[in-house]
Amino acid sequence: MVADKPADSTNDKLDVLKSTQTVVKKALDKLGYPQEVYELLKEPVRMMTVRIPVRMDDDSIKIFTGYRAQHNDAVGPTKGGVRFHPNVSEKEVKALSIWMSLKAGIVDLPYGGGKGGIVCDPREMSFRELEGVSRGYVRSISQIVGPTKDIPAPDVFTNSQIMAWMMDEYSRIDEFNNPGFITGKPIVLGGSHGRESATAKGVTICIEEACKKKGIDVKGARVVVQGFGNAGSFLAKFMHDAGAKVIGISDAYGALHDPEGLDIDYLLDRRDSFGTVTNLFKTTITNKELLELDCDILVPAAIENQITEDNAYNIKANVVVEAANGPTTLEATKILSDRGILLVPDVLASAGGVTVSYFEWVQNNQGYYWTEEEVEEKLQKVMVKGFNSVYNTAETRRVDMRLAAYMVGVRKMAEASRFRGWV
Ligand code: NAD
Repeated sequence: MVADKPADSTNDKLDVLKSTQTVVKKALDKLGYPQEVYELLKEPVRMMTVRIPVRMDDDSIKIFTGYRAQHNDAVGPTKGGVRFHPNVSEKEVKALSIWMSLKAGIVDLPYGGGKGGIVCDPREMSFRELEGVSRGYVRSISQIVGPTKDIPAPDVFTNSQIMAWMMDEYSRIDEFNNPGFITGKPIVLGGSHGRESATAKGVTICIEEACKKKGIDVKGARVVVQGFGNAGSFLAKFMHDAGAKVIGISDAYGALHDPEGLDIDYLLDRRDSFGTVTNLFKTTITNKELLELDCDILVPAAIENQITEDNAYNIKANVVVEAANGPTTLEATKILSDRGILLVPDVLASAGGVTVSYFEWVQNNQGYYWTEEEVEEKLQKVMVKGFNSVYNTAETRRVDMRLAAYMVGVRKMAEASRFRGWV
């Protein structure tokens, strides 16, 4: 028998849970909430660790470790993706669930935050093994999830096929078809139009709003995108279609740079389902070099802790929009803000995904489905409103955009927890 080992960050500055808690505390202090509210919100109210046995293709049994965190359910059911990755850890899943609560607060959804993860490497697994892990995970967590309790969705290395297996497994347990259990499903199983590209669409709307504030014309602006997966590749395409010049993109193996603008349609055509494309090219640069390219807009859309105090002084973009969760450390946030760079934080910029997930759940609950145009129109309104409430909070309270976003995001669940008499 073999088992994947969960990994944990030991460096405090790169500890995403600690840095999230630091900003939650600052936000609550600024809003005047007492310590007990922080004590409630600093960790998920519920955290489940599960062990999932799966028969592998070579007939061995492998035991996978999975997590489900439910941060706060005062406002409504918890909601958030499931990540399949070798580096998934308890701390990361907890931090991600808090970020989901903040996102729901910023774009005013009737949810708290949830998140799940399984320690595995889908790049090394067959389709059948992935199905086994997906179904096993749902069986393990079925008692605490459901359309009115906690609604999963896709995240890193999970997709609509995995959502379909999970929905099917849950429907078997429940003994009726239950599409509202999970979002990010294929359209034929009750998925929403526009869900696949929703995160990138939301990031695009934030870029447009940020550019208005900075007096940058999106048409002709030079854009660098780190990561060419679901979020990064759609974003590169939307920017390219809006007339921007995408001069750099990357994946886990390296980066591509062309000051005249990359052929995004060609790259989209050649990338694999894990967002890898640079392996097809002889001349590449490193991810570190990519982040420091001379450009107008930088979008980290890959993984955590990419902009740190080591490279924040070398960032040349005027606007940094975080499509990924947690790509910038707190030290780097301060450096970028002090340098006058407009940083649109993850909990705001990537909230388009959960917003359209919410639309999908609403459509499943009412059994009436919207067109892509209707979804886009609603998303536009939600994101512009979210952006402006964070931007205005930053201006009026004289705080950086990350703290402003946390202030806007935390308020609703703090209020709801107070009204319920919890704190
Ligand atoms: P994905 O798995 O589809 O793509 C990830 C991309 O990052 C791939 O191109 C991969 O090669 C690249 N990558 C992986 N490790 C890297 C490394 N060390 N250096 C550089 N690149 C690396 O994932 P995604 O769904 O696009 O998510 C990307 C980020 O956006 C994550 O932080 C995720 O939490 C966040 N996010 C995604 C969604 C969504 O709806 N997909 C929603 C909100 C936030």
